[in-house]
This record gives sequence, C-alpha cells and structure tokens, in this order.
Amino acid sequence: MSINCDVLVIGGGPAGSALATLLAEKGWNIHLLEKTSHPRFHIGESLLPQSVPILQQLGVLHEIEKIGIKKYGAELISHYEKTSQVFYFGRAIDESQPYAFEVKRDEFDAVLLRNAESKGAHIHEGVRAQHVEFHSGMSSVVHAQNQAGASLSWEAKFVVDASGRDTFLSGQLGGKRRNPQHNSGAIFGHFKDVTRYTGKDEGNIAVAWHDHGWSWIIPFKDGTSSVGVVCWPDYFRSRNVPLDQFLQDTINLSPTLAERMRQARPISPVYAAANFSYQQQAMSGEGYLMIGDAFSFIDPMFSSGVHLALNSALLGAEVVEAHLQESPDYAKCLRDFEASVERGLKTFSWFIHRFTQPAFRSVFISDHPPRFIEKGVLSLLAGDVFGKSPTFFPLLLFKFFYYLAYVTNWRENQAASRRRKQGMANTATNLKDYAVNQET
Ligand SMILES: Cc1cc2nc3c(=O)[nH]c(=O)nc-3n(C[C@H](O)[C@H](O)[C@H](O)COP(=O)(O)OP(=O)(O)OC[C@H]3O[C@@H](n4cnc5c(N)ncnc54)[C@H](O)[C@@H]3O)c2cc1C
Repeated sequence: MSINCDVLVIGGGPAGSALATLLAEKGWNIHLLEKTSHPRFHIGESLLPQSVPILQQLGVLHEIEKIGIKKYGAELISHYEKTSQVFYFGRAIDESQPYAFEVKRDEFDAVLLRNAESKGAHIHEGVRAQHVEFHSGMSSVVHAQNQAGASLSWEAKFVVDASGRDTFLSGQLGGKRRNPQHNSGAIFGHFKDVTRYTGKDEGNIAVAWHDHGWSWIIPFKDGTSSVGVVCWPDYFRSRNVPLDQFLQDTINLSPTLAERMRQARPISPVYAAANFSYQQQAMSGEGYLMIGDAFSFIDPMFSSGVHLALNSALLGAEVVEAHLQESPDYAKCLRDFEASVERGLKTFSWFIHRFTQPAFRSVFISDHPPRFIEKGVLSLLAGDVFGKSPTFFPLLLFKFFYYLAYVTNWRENQAASRRRKQGMANTATNLKDYAVNQET
C-alpha cells in the first residue's frame, strides 16, 4: 500500500526542510524522507548574511540565534604576502544584514527539520529513498526502505530531490558531471582549545591559503571549532599517514592557523569529502525538481552551500506550487528558478576557480581596495548574488584588476595555474565521501 501525498521530498537537510516548510505552511500534503535521524553530523557550518532573512521567513531565526555564534566577518590569511584581512559584511552594498551565524549542523539541521514538522510536513526519519517510478502525466511512486529493512512506498504528484551530495536522482537518471574546471576534496573535524579572537571578531571564519589549496577554522558558540582543509586530488594521493595526522600536517602549512591550533585537541572523528565539484545536466524534469547539493556542488571556499540550498528551496517551492495548481505561470516559474540557481553558481564559480592564483590574492587582500570594488566583493561574500544589490560593475572592475595583476606577474600566475591543473589532472583520491557512505 502506497501513502498518497502532494509532494515527496527526499532528504532532510536545509534544502529539503525549507521547501517542505514553505509548502506545508500553505496547506499542501508534504512527506519528507530522511535516511538518518536528526541530530546527525554534517559539514557546512558557516552561514552567509543573506541567508538570515530566509531563516526569518522560515520562522526559525530566534532558534538559530540560540545555537549560533554571530559571524560579522571573514578573515583571509596569506602567509605568502605575510598578511591577513578581515572582510566585514556591514560594509557591503546592502548594509542591513551585517552578520551571519556559525552553527553546528547537527543542531541547525534538526531545528529546520522540526520546524517543517511543526508546520505540518510529515517527516519520516531513518527512511532511505531507493527508486522512483516516473509515469508520464501521472503521479510518481517512490520506493524506500526503513532501518528495520521494511519496504515502504509513496505515491506523489511531485518529487523533490534534496538528497545533497548523495545526488539520489542523478544516481538513477544519470547526467551528473564532474566540474572540469575545478576539483578538490576535503578533510575536516571538530576540535576544542583552538585559539580564537574575543569580542565582535570571535565568530569570524578564518580562511588561509596553502600550496595545495586552502584551510578553514570556524568557531562555534560552545567554544569548540570546525577545522578543515580543501586540497587538490594529487596532494591527497601523496598521503602516507593516518587521516588525522594528515589534517594536522596540512593545517601546519599555514603558520597562522598552525599557531592557533597549537593547544587544540580533536573531539570528533576526522571526516572526508571526495571529488568535490559536480553539476547535473538538468535540474528538473516531468514531475521532479532537484534542489541544493542534489543538483550541483561547488567548492565551499565562500561558504555558499547552505545559502544556495536555501535559495533554491525558496524558489523551488514556488515552482512546485505552480505545478500543483496547474498554474499557467508554471513555465515562467521554472525558468526563473533555473536562472536564479545558475546565476548563484556562476557568480561564485568565477571567484572559486581563481582563488588560488597569486593575482587573485593580490587584488582580494589589497591594503587599500577602492571602496567601490570592496563593496562588491563584500556583497559577494555576504551571499548577495541573486540581483538584490548592484554588484555587476564592482565585480567587473575586480575582474579587470585581476587580469591586470595576472599579466603583470604572469610567470608566477602561470606556475600557479599549472600547479592547479596538475593537482586536478587525476580526480581519483584515496578519500571516501562521508555523506554518501554514511549508514543509517
Ligand atoms: C568540506 C565541506 C565544507 C563545507 N563548508 C560549508 C560552509 O562553511 N558553509 C556552507 O554554507 N556550506 C558548506 N558546505 C556545503 C554544505 O554542506 C552543503 O551545500 C549543504 O549542506 C547543502 O544542503 P542540502 O540540503 O542540499 O544537502 P544536505 O545538507 O547534504 O542534506 C541532504 C540530506 O539528504 C539525506 N539523504 C541523502 N540520500 C537520501 C536518500 N536516498 N533518502 C533519504 N534521505 C537521503 C541526507 O542524509 C541529508 O540529511 C561544505 C561542504 C563540504 C563538503
């Protein structure tokens, strides 16, 4: 016997929970399957200011304020230029949202999922979607299994894939492509006794460049921190020590972070995420939509993942509702949704692909950046990438100065470019992706 519903959402991360909340609030019959049980570990802990209004719209902001530490800025550290710079979001074009939050994702995701439930969505934890039967012009049947091994099924008018890096529907339908321009992996864990700033800067994320990629420290409200490194695949293949030692060795490539980690002790296992960046060819088809990481994943150097996931859920909910209402606006809604998702990914990707170039560092952390450009860059860092503020010309000017710096110092930049390409030439790492391999 199948359970009937309007929408079956696969995945209870930020994307799935947000979309389920928005549609359940409007009275639609929403069922959500989550293969794990919340709270559960997840990476992706640094949020962007422009997500805050979305959290408010979802009705969870007061709860996130309780679990999160305020993040007023991002500190970029370059030991090559022996410098660091803090980018304060309050100086962005949109000054109305000067901070975001750093959150532990087990707590954050649980708040979002319970919120969806309180708004009327039916949540099924410990239930893994296994296969979807699509029937043209009719409801789809979603087959799943619970933790006891029992088979379950749902008959849904619309299916939303929000399964994150598991990319559930791509696994069934094919069409997922590795990003040919950027590929890397990550290892990370939680630590205590990491040195941090006090006062307003306490919640800032720290990001440091190193020879094989970049590293991060994200402080949490309870005094602990998330620490991780993102590197090219060839560097991971050179590993001949245990993962935790490798994480420490890689952190030590950035003297400032090494100093902050001197007293640090691990309080979680070390996790890995392999073969990072991908995109599915199409984010929608008859009777389904993909949102968040289920559609695309880009390197998290700008902490963009949750923001992109929430934004795609917001617009995705409008698409699904237009479908359920058989609205004449459905095609337009879908076009707007797809254009917005592409715009967000594209805007961040230009900067991500050049992040490790010396030319990028020299323009990005310049001592006296022209105010006009600085505002544009800060707006990008704040997640203001969906056309709310006029960022086009400041970012265009940034790109102009980047190319100028590249040409001026072309030998060093060419060498960095070669290093990056060599690092990504073979995408196989000896890492296992914790998200995909995580058992229920
Ligand atoms: C190393 C690393 C660092 C990152 N750092 C940041 C950061 O600082 N800031 C940031 O914003 N983002 C960051 N991200 C990205 C962020 O983690 C994701 O973009 C974000 O979690 C996407 O949300 P989502 O809802 O699409 O997917 P997820 O949060 O992954 O949620 C998907 C859910 O679907 C469930 N699921 C999967 N398959 C099934 C199935 N078959 N049936 C039922 N349930 C299923 C999973 O258990 C999971 O709960 C980082 C990512 C990585 C890998």
